Amino acid sequence: MASSSSQLKQDGLAGRGCVTLDQLGLSLPRDAGSVDFADIKADASFNRVIDESHTSLVVQEQCERAWYLSSGLAQGISTDEQHLLRSLSSYLGGAGSVVHEAIRRVLDAHREKLNPEGRVLKAPAAYNFEQILQSAAERFDFMEGASWDDFFPNGRSDRDHPRFREHLKLKHLLVGSASPAHVALPETSPDHQSFKRYREVLVQALNNWHEIFYLDRDGAFQDDPRHLVPPGGLKAIDPALVLEVEEKNISYAKHDSFEILGLGGLSIPYYEIEVPVARPPVKELIQRGLGARISFRVKAVLDFVYLTFTPAGDPRLVAMDWKTNRLDEFSGKPAIEAQEEHLVQLKHYALYLLQRYRDVFQRFDEEIKRAFGRAHRPLPQLPKELTADMVFLGDAYIAGEGLSAPYRFRPVCAADLDLDTFVQGLRARLAAKAGKFSSIWPPVTQIERWAPSGLAKERCDGCNQAPLCPDAPLHVKEEWPVSASEMLSQLKRPRRTPLL
Ligand code: SF4
Repeated sequence: MASSSSQLKQDGLAGRGCVTLDQLGLSLPRDAGSVDFADIKADASFNRVIDESHTSLVVQEQCERAWYLSSGLAQGISTDEQHLLRSLSSYLGGAGSVVHEAIRRVLDAHREKLNPEGRVLKAPAAYNFEQILQSAAERFDFMEGASWDDFFPNGRSDRDHPRFREHLKLKHLLVGSASPAHVALPETSPDHQSFKRYREVLVQALNNWHEIFYLDRDGAFQDDPRHLVPPGGLKAIDPALVLEVEEKNISYAKHDSFEILGLGGLSIPYYEIEVPVARPPVKELIQRGLGARISFRVKAVLDFVYLTFTPAGDPRLVAMDWKTNRLDEFSGKPAIEAQEEHLVQLKHYALYLLQRYRDVFQRFDEEIKRAFGRAHRPLPQLPKELTADMVFLGDAYIAGEGLSAPYRFRPVCAADLDLDTFVQGLRARLAAKAGKFSSIWPPVTQIERWAPSGLAKERCDGCNQAPLCPDAPLHVKEEWPVSASEMLSQLKRPRRTPLL
């Protein structure tokens, strides 16, 4: 890697930036007859090839075929089918997004936003937790009804119209059974009992979050030796030092960076990581004045980021992610696989925070001054830049009963996350992916190029893309007995003829 980069510098190719492979000239030369090359031009500023996220990287690790089928690169699959399959969620996933939305409402009310000159753009406001709780439960009820009643008229992904995987399969079984003409769909969801259970989980998680984390009713943060959460809980964080509250209200998938800023977005939540292009097409690169590297962008939407200071004035940039996983009653931790996955996610977040907030003390100087003024504390000497030892991250597990804050929130310092090794591994993986796109045959738009890979213990347990996958094994096919397009047309027109 090092030698190819120095070679590039010698060749005068040390450009930087996000480029598509089309710009890189990798669709040239067309020496393989009438082969169709991947057309991966950016859609607005979003590009499915170079825009990654923790979730998309996990999918690729588990099965590259699954990533390919959801990427939009595959030909001959309608966008309706793709959207439908990509937006499938689980009941628990639906409950989790309702919880996140409710918490966001409390924190949005808490937050104060200043313009660069220190003028208040948005002041903290009161919130009514009971009302928020009630509307969260109502929204979940609505999701249940909408998911069952809706005929999936198009592939739109709307957060209030989730396509619950469980409902889809049930509908298919009912509608697509041996005598579909004689099937009547029930008027209400046959999974109503499961929804009732999840609604209880949801309400309890929200109450836990509010009581344990926001209000610190147990006084658990009084003795926090690292001073990450002030005594009194998240409520005691200075409103001006709240830096991010799930910044996905403006989707960067739909707008380019300038539009986001123009629309009042405060952050563009991704970090960049450069990888070299293997065997770069030097001539084409010189012609276009481009470097033989690709900047991948890894989206990192954190649930909550704030700045706080110890009593001695040392800064801490703290990030939290709300998790609704069930915790083991003995260890007080989630399942081992979930722990491992969450740790990887925290590493992505750490990279994002270090890249995004390197100049936090300059960029947020008005906010910092205001917070110290409000607390009647002298402003400490601020560091020149943010370093890993000042960044702390942790998942806050908010579901279930009977555990106090220290079990639910075990933050780690970014300096202890071995980020160098993580970046090295990530870069190698992304370089391998870029390499896949840069070799010409077979074209990346062909399914053969994306064999199922990385499946745990060589076993495929299915994925959202299974209806499109010719290699889905029998036990998965049984769950998804028709193709996505057939399923789509059946679900558009379910038969409601009563049983004879
Ligand atoms: S069904 Fe299995 S093999 Fe096919 S894409 Fe999904 S995980 Fe991969």
